[in-house]
Amino acid sequence: MIYHSTRDEKLTAAPARAVLEGIAPDGGLYVCDPGKLDFDWQGTLQKDTMSMAADILGVLLPDFQDMNGLVRASYAGKFASDDLTPLVPVGERYVLELYHGPTSAFKDVALSVLPRLVSAAAKQEGAGDVVILTATSGDTGKAALEGFHDVPGTRIMVFYPAGGVSPVQEAQMVTQEGGNVRVCAIRGNFDDAQTGVKNVFAACKGKELHGAVLSSANSINIGRLAPQVVYYFRAYADLVQTGRIRVGEKVHFVVPTGNFGDILAGYFAKRMGLPVGRLVCASNANDVLTEFISTGVYDRRRPFYKTTSPSMDILVSSNLERLLYLLSEGDCGYVAGLMEQLNREGHYQVSPRLLERLQAEFDCACCDDAGAAEVIRRLWQEQHYLCDPHTAVAWSAAEQVRLEDGAPVVVLSTASPYKFPAAVLGALEGGCDGDEFAMMERLHRLTGTEVPRNLAGLQGRTVRHRDVIDKEQMLDYVLAEVMRS
Ligand SMILES: *Cc1c(COP(=O)(O)O)cnc(C)c1O
Repeated sequence: MIYHSTRDEKLTAAPARAVLEGIAPDGGLYVCDPGKLDFDWQGTLQKDTMSMAADILGVLLPDFQDMNGLVRASYAGKFASDDLTPLVPVGERYVLELYHGPTSAFKDVALSVLPRLVSAAAKQEGAGDVVILTATSGDTGKAALEGFHDVPGTRIMVFYPAGGVSPVQEAQMVTQEGGNVRVCAIRGNFDDAQTGVKNVFAACKGKELHGAVLSSANSINIGRLAPQVVYYFRAYADLVQTGRIRVGEKVHFVVPTGNFGDILAGYFAKRMGLPVGRLVCASNANDVLTEFISTGVYDRRRPFYKTTSPSMDILVSSNLERLLYLLSEGDCGYVAGLMEQLNREGHYQVSPRLLERLQAEFDCACCDDAGAAEVIRRLWQEQHYLCDPHTAVAWSAAEQVRLEDGAPVVVLSTASPYKFPAAVLGALEGGCDGDEFAMMERLHRLTGTEVPRNLAGLQGRTVRHRDVIDKEQMLDYVLAEVMRS
């Protein structure tokens, strides 16, 4: 099985190479058609989560040896249980909790596995040390640090906007332990950090880096997408096991969306055979995807809102490119044209045929901060279920879209409410004060729910990373680290 760029089918790479490179040389994303894989989806539903993950990763990334061992080692001791992602009934619907990993956000599901994939790929390809560069607006950075610290053959450098992440997120990152990690604040915003990282990649292209290879932990890497396919199968199998459905019946999924990675994994699951009904794309006030799915017009020339669900504050959803590829039946030239127009003019419109196919699979809805707060308050009052603002956006979308054919509706929950205590407490009490640690304590006393251990223990930890640089200094900073071997 072979991957190729979404923009050029002649730019191919074996799965291990695709994981190692992260992005294709022409700027496209590595893709395959999961519908063409030979996969016994019914067989995998019988298995425990670890074996299921090994099956799914094994078929998506077939050139890795001992996927079973790799998956088990990746998750060992990291999640609250070996089932990873519990499915919880809430009222008439179900919530799929993806946040019981080491940093209390759903990115742990993929970023627990990616480091071992990268490390194995480097060995297989005869590459030297892999240096992971990551720009983060908060969640990805910590999850990547947790995943990569002390993984042999890898080093990780995380850049975040100084003053641009929450105090809890900053504390999570600057206290990170491990001999192979660097955390550095950039004077600027998230876009400055992200552009800086892209510039470093471009400047290092083809350069001799003491045998080291640069790679990325962002969700454009196919090694991040593949592990996320697993929890769609897990949720489905749980619904079968509890007798809610029989194998073959449909299940709808509602997904809080930013870079389109989480929801695309659901579409992969569907193409691999899983009876997925509707996939509902939920957005916050940054509703670029709601407009796209409703009209076929993608237009990033719009105001950017900072919301209480910051991990979805995104105007360019990278993984949408893979969906365009699949919905156009593999028309790379068409995808390349759209991406070029997006780059040059900031917008594009898909053909009526593609729009029809898009709407045959996906629904969409958006929800602003006030709407999300209302959901948080109501779910707590009526169901005694506490959710974070990202999950609340998805719950609101589930209510708006009205999937009423009797099939189960699964709402994906992407973060612990304790990761966003100001928004959650504000929703419950109409306001909040003190620092975020005081708010966590207040939330705990108010609701009786447990503070996740990784967050509760943060306050007393030693700060290990204090570097702050300008974005123009990033290249030198990275080179100094790479050459220090
Ligand atoms: C990253 C993230 C999302 C969005 O996921 P995408 O794969 O980017 O669509 C939603 N919620 C939380 C809490 C996240 O960290």
